[in-house]
Amino acid sequence: MPVPLLDVNAQNLPLQDELRATFDRVLQSGRFIMGEEMEAFEREVAEMVGVKHALSVSSGTDAILLALMALGIGEGDEVLCPSFTFFATAGCIARTGATPVFVDSCPVCFNIDLEDAAKKRTAKTKAIVPVHLFGQAADMDAVMSFAAEHSLKVIEDGAQAIGAKYKGKSVGSIGDFGAYSFFPSKNLGGFGDGGMLVTNNDSLAEMALMLRNHGMNPKYYHKYVGGNFRCDALQAALLRVKLREYTGYTEKRQANAQYYTEKLLQLEGVVQAQQEDCGCLESQTLKYQADAAKLVLPVAYDHNEHIWNQFTIRVLDGQRDAFREHLTEKGIGCDTYYPVPLHQQECFADIPKHALPVCEQLAQEVISIPIYPELTQGQKDEVISAVQAFLTSKV
Ligand SMILES: *Cc1c(COP(=O)(O)O)cnc(C)c1O
Repeated sequence: MPVPLLDVNAQNLPLQDELRATFDRVLQSGRFIMGEEMEAFEREVAEMVGVKHALSVSSGTDAILLALMALGIGEGDEVLCPSFTFFATAGCIARTGATPVFVDSCPVCFNIDLEDAAKKRTAKTKAIVPVHLFGQAADMDAVMSFAAEHSLKVIEDGAQAIGAKYKGKSVGSIGDFGAYSFFPSKNLGGFGDGGMLVTNNDSLAEMALMLRNHGMNPKYYHKYVGGNFRCDALQAALLRVKLREYTGYTEKRQANAQYYTEKLLQLEGVVQAQQEDCGCLESQTLKYQADAAKLVLPVAYDHNEHIWNQFTIRVLDGQRDAFREHLTEKGIGCDTYYPVPLHQQECFADIPKHALPVCEQLAQEVISIPIYPELTQGQKDEVISAVQAFLTSKV
């Protein structure tokens, strides 16, 4: 039986009656842009993540862009961000006219390396965009103290991590702004594009609110040049149905991660990344390769609540593509997030280059396997035996 990397129907179809009723309610309301459904959704998300203001927007990308615009980031500014992330993180920075300055990552937690960020900061640096990659928080204490020291704004890219926690606080609620995405493959997956921008700052919220709708207030009076970053009422209404189930989805992802970890660690050649080796907890040399290790499993740090948007394994010794081929042959869905770090993307060719050795190595080593909540016991075991078969063929 094939195991897909993600099966959105397994999550959405059990809710189809409620989703249809919701569609009918919105249809009958005749209100399709923003409105009450959206505001109710915003209140519910604000409560879940513990923030004062939540603004629904058109996508996670637009949430990041809107945050940068509200902070006045633009031409001549530099913004620090990881290179090992989805394109939108840096694409938004470039779209404001600012320059994304790429920072290396930690090979243990995959998140931004603050020591490297410190090396890349200049007098032009205005902000930093930490990404909570794969559902695990970046080291926000380090980000916030670095930002405070240099008067930088902080925009948390929580597109993959809504509901994930750092020392008890929801990601997105710690910096000046937090951005979430409801793209269907994210943990709170919608029915099309959608996103949310959150902040605890009243004046930033007000600015973002205006910019979301062409910088307009009152109607047809434009104080700023904003955009159309509005949210569909239908999207918000449908997402409210899934938001009620969200805790359960997260618990299942966590249980799946735990099961994989327990079972895979019993196999010869499999090790788990060690929290103590994390370059972003303490400055130290990274224990990059464990002896005789072939696969390195991800680790959830004790101070984090990891929500496992992806379960991302490092395949050592240049075997990643062989591993990928093997899984594909066995019908196991898998993918590489991300095969090309952003500093090596063609569109950023004009940005001065620094070597980012960890990002470059991760791009060669990583592969994500199915972790979605609705995986059955049989499917999980099938993934595990496919991994086992690969390891056995290598001895
Ligand atoms: C998905 C994603 C985004 C963009 O979200 P969209 O809703 O697809 O626009 C931004 N950053 C990261 C890290 C993401 O994974």
